[in-house]
Amino acid sequence: MRIEQDHKLDFPDVLIRPKRSTLSSRSDVDIKRDFTFKWSSHTYRGVPVIAANMDGVGTFSMARAFEKDGNGLTVALVKHYPAEELVSFYKNGGDANSWYTLGLNEEDAEKFDRVNKELGDHAPKKICLDVANGYIQYFVDFLREVRKKYPDKTIMAGNVVTGEMTEELIMSGADVVKVGVGQGSVCTTRRVAGVGYPQLSAIIECADAAHGLDGLVCSDGGCVCPGDVAKAYGAGADFVMMGGMLAGHDQSEAELVEEDGEKKLFFYGMASDTAMKKHKGDVAEYRASEGKTVKIPYRGDVKESLQEILGGIRSACTYVGARRLKELTKRTSFVKVSRQLNTVFGDS
Ligand code: 5GP
Repeated sequence: MRIEQDHKLDFPDVLIRPKRSTLSSRSDVDIKRDFTFKWSSHTYRGVPVIAANMDGVGTFSMARAFEKDGNGLTVALVKHYPAEELVSFYKNGGDANSWYTLGLNEEDAEKFDRVNKELGDHAPKKICLDVANGYIQYFVDFLREVRKKYPDKTIMAGNVVTGEMTEELIMSGADVVKVGVGQGSVCTTRRVAGVGYPQLSAIIECADAAHGLDGLVCSDGGCVCPGDVAKAYGAGADFVMMGGMLAGHDQSEAELVEEDGEKKLFFYGMASDTAMKKHKGDVAEYRASEGKTVKIPYRGDVKESLQEILGGIRSACTYVGARRLKELTKRTSFVKVSRQLNTVFGDS
């Protein structure tokens, strides 16, 4: 047994320190990023926000809303859509704002082959391969096979939280490594398994490893407000993925329930009992559920929430004098604060 002594940080442990700036307005800030992916060589331009591949978030409707928004945000689609629906979505220009989530079993691999064949030139260019624990060798082998079979697809793979595994995934074919274990809003891994890693430190360490190899990282989970998203970019994240912050909207494709005169809807982890029963028929005996189900208030169109998120990122850039989102990490100095103080001032 070993105890690592350096103190790891989460979003509530820090604030971004203001810096002198020549920017006079938030509108002077460009919050889009331009990337050329390491392996696929495809390019991307947009606000690097990704809706998580979770029920109620990673939906076709969300992708359509992002398309309408026009800022280049993307959605990691839930992997449960049937092949015919995926084909129709991609035929109608779905690729620009989405990532195809490829499951790790044979059935999902066959579905992906079928969708690719049917779509020809319209086939998905960006794919997302993710497992709760990206440290298993089977996952790395699977990633290598997918990279070999699809050399021209952009692959996002994860989840991991440490530099050495980020390097391993990039060298095995990932263009983007998804970072985050145990910090999701409806994740119970920290409680069930005692496993996790503070998200801000994970981003800093993984981004450093990825950027050294011309790879990118996507911070996944743990953001509960726009300020957290800004902190994730400040720490070095190239993309930020969110579930809870984008849940509860018209785009969830979920049924609303009425409670005490208020509209609500169910939001749940993809490893929760709810998700396992819905998609697999039951909870496998050998595994404990590592996600929970919550009822959240209905929040209307995602447009309003997007405005808040993008406004927050713009504001952070203005405070530190970053004319472009790309400069935010170089201009960021974090100050460590006590969590209690952060909450008090954060809410004021
Ligand atoms: P959020 O933005 O809601 O804090 O986190 C979203 C992320 O939580 C997802 O992208 C995914 O990585 C993670 N997640 C989603 N469902 C579950 C689950 O049931 N269990 C665990 N451990 N993580 C989950």
